[in-house]
Amino acid sequence: MSRPAFPRRWRRLPAATAASVALLLLAGPATTGTAAPPDREADAPVALERSADEQADVVEVTVDGTAQLDALVATGVDLDHHVTPTEAGIVVHAVVTPTEVAGLKRMGYQVGAVLHDADDSAQRISERDATIAAHQAENRAYTATLERSAATSDVKIIRADYYTSGTNQVLSVEAKWAQGQTSTSTLTVARDSGPGTEIGSGGTQNISRFVDAGVYLYHRGAAAVTTRPERIQITSPTGDVAVAEVKEWLPIPADSPEGPGYQKDFVTSYLTPTELYDRIKRLADAYPQLAEVVKLPYQTNGYRRKAQVVLGGTTATRVAVDSLAWGHEGGNDITVELAAPGAADQPLSVTVTGKAIRVSLATDAAGAVTSTAAQVAAALTAEAGALVTAYTYRGDAGAGVVAPVAPTPLSDNLKAPAGVSRDPHPVYAIRIGKYRDGSRTGVLAYAQEHAREWVPPLVTIETAERLLRNHATDENTKQLLRTLDIWIVPSINPDGGHYSFYDYASQRRNMTNHCAPGGATDALARNSWGVDNNRNYTEYSLFDGYSGASASCTGDTYAGPSELSEPENRNVDWLAQRPNMKFSMNLHSSGNYFMWSPGAYATPGRISAPRPTLAEESFFWGASSRILTAIKRHRNMAVTPARTGPISDVLYSAAGNSGDMLWYKYGIYAWNFEVGTSFQPTWEEAHQETMEFSNGLVELLRVARDYDKDKKRPTSTLSVTPSATEGAVSVRFDVSEPAAVFYTLDGSRPTFESTLYASAGIREGAETLTVPTGTKIHWFSVDAAGNIERNYRPDEDSKTFNRGWATLPTG
Ligand SMILES: [Zn+2]
Repeated sequence: MSRPAFPRRWRRLPAATAASVALLLLAGPATTGTAAPPDREADAPVALERSADEQADVVEVTVDGTAQLDALVATGVDLDHHVTPTEAGIVVHAVVTPTEVAGLKRMGYQVGAVLHDADDSAQRISERDATIAAHQAENRAYTATLERSAATSDVKIIRADYYTSGTNQVLSVEAKWAQGQTSTSTLTVARDSGPGTEIGSGGTQNISRFVDAGVYLYHRGAAAVTTRPERIQITSPTGDVAVAEVKEWLPIPADSPEGPGYQKDFVTSYLTPTELYDRIKRLADAYPQLAEVVKLPYQTNGYRRKAQVVLGGTTATRVAVDSLAWGHEGGNDITVELAAPGAADQPLSVTVTGKAIRVSLATDAAGAVTSTAAQVAAALTAEAGALVTAYTYRGDAGAGVVAPVAPTPLSDNLKAPAGVSRDPHPVYAIRIGKYRDGSRTGVLAYAQEHAREWVPPLVTIETAERLLRNHATDENTKQLLRTLDIWIVPSINPDGGHYSFYDYASQRRNMTNHCAPGGATDALARNSWGVDNNRNYTEYSLFDGYSGASASCTGDTYAGPSELSEPENRNVDWLAQRPNMKFSMNLHSSGNYFMWSPGAYATPGRISAPRPTLAEESFFWGASSRILTAIKRHRNMAVTPARTGPISDVLYSAAGNSGDMLWYKYGIYAWNFEVGTSFQPTWEEAHQETMEFSNGLVELLRVARDYDKDKKRPTSTLSVTPSATEGAVSVRFDVSEPAAVFYTLDGSRPTFESTLYASAGIREGAETLTVPTGTKIHWFSVDAAGNIERNYRPDEDSKTFNRGWATLPTG
């Protein structure tokens, strides 16, 4: 179907609508208060220094008002998504190293408790490793048990559940096979056709491997059956046999959108980007009719760095050395030695033997070393320039005399196992739907713009699994896949993601270093590089003068050198350009927020990007209540109203974020999840968050389906009440569903160019118009799917608009 043209028209009003004027008025009082922290100037750029060997903690910072919050955001400090007004001020969470904490304190910020530290991240990794090891040990023990007992089958049926779904009958089977880790074979289940019948008389079904984080867990699968089987039998590829009785699955209340027997709970541990991509490839292989993996057009820079070292202690004596080759392509084999010759009047010289570079330092008549850092750097670049480039520390003159240094290896300092590619990395999406030809309403879900957010990718995997595994047996799911063209990208930023898992748990950005020579390009700055992928987009960006992104190459909200400079961002732009794309979810953590545009304002004055129209806002809210109800269904966790709404209302400005690009540039209904309570919660909590936010993501798909199926025209009524103004009355329009109302007060035909009925102010609902008594009012309404009331055709010579008078009802 074609993209409904109308919702774009909803957005035709510029920033100066009644609503955005109201925003400015409302925001006014909030910006009073302390203009900046005590000992720094409001616009002075402040660089927070981060040392390479520190991990970051999540700490509380208390600011005294929104102005100080804006000043804090302007430092480029890495804030997570908690913003809590308290008696003492606004409490936010910053992700900072001890050196950065010291910097914040120096600037006068009030820094409080540590909420999450590096040990917590390390703990998550070791939990994950232990889980994987336990699964592997289980597999080995299982195989060993079978080998000891020739009488035991190498296949074991774990569960066989029969249930009905609508008019369908379904059999779901799980079984464990001793060779499941190494062999990719499916297993065939033979069914009987009821008590006392032959195995096989009820037909067969295949079940396939469930592999998580590289570990085989079991085989599973569900299929429609025509009669309830009493027993099933599995014959493994080795000829071994297992038999089990079929049990009836507990019925689930029929009003659940998931229906009885709906399968869920498909992730068992955190997954690295490599594992996430493997997982969607396996899923697409298992369901070739319903899904395919799409390699997005732009490859990342890669999980790779040049091999580097900084020799020397104090700034003036430091020599920074970088390999020309990437670390894994030979840079890591290079060593550098600064040797004192132990003789008088020696010249500075450099010898290169293979990958070993030896600098013989100059001496004076007394035999003391005289070479400065600048001289050594110049000599290295001149004489060993085929291997390395060398420079003084961060633009220093390098006038200090260097000290001898024993042979020291250069290193890219990357700790991921060799299985993690060091090459420029493709970014993969799984595209799900029965008709993947652009003819269906498009929905995009994407996660891990921010590397350290480990739960959101799991929500996307869980959702993809639910859609494909339930398709054969759940009518509701089948309908989603018939109606929609679903694109799921579990990790937008795989380089940063790998870095977060293996090197620096608090990594937020990608790994690309845009710092200029003379800046923070050396080994000691290696945890400070990267572009914030959620600040590099094209609308209301830093480059447009909006707030909440950093121009510093080491700022944690660094916007990059220009809009869409990063391949990660160009991939999202490419996806959003698809003409059928209509809905999106950008998955982040944490804070249990649910947000939409506008996501940025300009300071001072908090001048917002244009606000959605009343109709758009009511559509956002209406869909949001469905999505949040689905989330709550899991364990009664309610995303609060205070954390629901436009990003810049409920959080802070985030110039150049992706949701704003999708909404303002492409007219996509774009939401943002902030999943859960922290970046890397305990597995138990991460698992719960995955389940609940997958509920929400599936509900977004239902919202998209209903939008697609919406052929119902809205209706509207005029209500007229007394006004305090002499000779006037108060007028409101009431609509039957989220819908835009266009009206005229001069007796003319209403069109899309007529005045759009607006909201009274931020989060306030519809405005009340004050008009002279007796005014003739003409209007029509149009819903989010483009259905127009009473089949009125505003652009043609149609007469079926609504007519009314601004007069008080009599009697
Ligand atoms: Zn994030």
